[in-house]
Amino acid sequence: MDHVLDIADRYILTPYVYPASWPEDGALRQVISLLVLTNMGAELLYLGFAAFSFYYVFDHRLLKHPHFIENQLQREIRLGVTSIFWMSFPTVALFFAEIRGYSKLYDNITKSPSGWPGVMLSVAGFLFFTDMVIYWMHRVLHHKSLYKYLHKQHHTFKIPTPFASHAFHPVDGFLQSLPYHIYPFLFPLHKVAYLFLFVFVNIWTISIHDGDFRIPWPLVEVINGAAHHVDHHLYFYYNYGQYFTLWDRLGGSYRHPSVLLGQGPLDHIRKLTVAGKLRR
Ligand SMILES: [Zn+2]
Ligand SMILES: [Zn+2]
Repeated sequence: MDHVLDIADRYILTPYVYPASWPEDGALRQVISLLVLTNMGAELLYLGFAAFSFYYVFDHRLLKHPHFIENQLQREIRLGVTSIFWMSFPTVALFFAEIRGYSKLYDNITKSPSGWPGVMLSVAGFLFFTDMVIYWMHRVLHHKSLYKYLHKQHHTFKIPTPFASHAFHPVDGFLQSLPYHIYPFLFPLHKVAYLFLFVFVNIWTISIHDGDFRIPWPLVEVINGAAHHVDHHLYFYYNYGQYFTLWDRLGGSYRHPSVLLGQGPLDHIRKLTVAGKLRR
């Protein structure tokens, strides 16, 4: 985040916003700036990409599904926007620790343990680590002692739209984002790669809720896409993964997408339409 903060300081905050008596490295000023930038960045990413996905990717036939609830879009957006706001407070505490130098982030390739291959390896490591931790955390959140307090809100939506991607109880949302923030405190990571990964994970989360169930054949076994994740929303105890099917396979929770077996939500809508129970 310090690249983002530096740019905001240089071009906007120092010349136009803060009084000259507030130094750029003052803790209070940094926390306020991080709160504003994190909220603006995360809400814009969420609303911008989810809106794009809803209009251009999401299959609008799904709106007719009997599990699509009343005012669902408004409920998803309200929950997503408020969750990002509340999540931003603990997130900013971690960003603050990061810009104060407590993480293993570096900004010069010479500081990479093994040059560019090291950067590539750390990106792969980030995906592997976050996929694994989110999988197990997600399973714990489905435990009956926790489920109804935290994770149930996300499962209000059985046929999710891209706006459901960030619609969580704030504690649930923060817990599931924690692996992204912890990684650079444990392992070296290039700051630009981290920024890229931050945007990527937000878009990925939207993409597994986008109602576009197509996945190229060889990847269907490996990648956890929207076809897998809609089964998680419909059947609860399967496909907890984020990017890959690996941990679901190892943890015994993998379910081959029902969409690919002719039993997905669109098949259900088609059958109801043919039976005259839904308007064409
Ligand atoms: Zn779940
Ligand atoms: Zn979901």
